[in-house]
Amino acid sequence: MAAETTCCPGAGWVHVADLGHAGGIDCVLVRCSACKRSWLHLWTPHASGERYAALADAAALELAATPAGPDRKRKLLELLDL
Ligand SMILES: [Zn+2]
Repeated sequence: MAAETTCCPGAGWVHVADLGHAGGIDCVLVRCSACKRSWLHLWTPHASGERYAALADAAALELAATPAGPDRKRKLLELLDL
């Protein structure tokens, strides 16, 4: 998944779900408050900086519907291409 800049400059983020860690990266499912597009907010406590990665609606729904555990971690790792 390529890193992208965010979609709507100045728009806020709506928190959807904490997805936990994958590959040492904290993943939070968020949604743009302006266009409702789903994004992954990625950050790590071990480095400064953070990034957002665009997420297809289907992938966002699937992640939100998957309970915490190995399945969700595997999906995150696939999405993040780690
Ligand atoms: Zn947007």
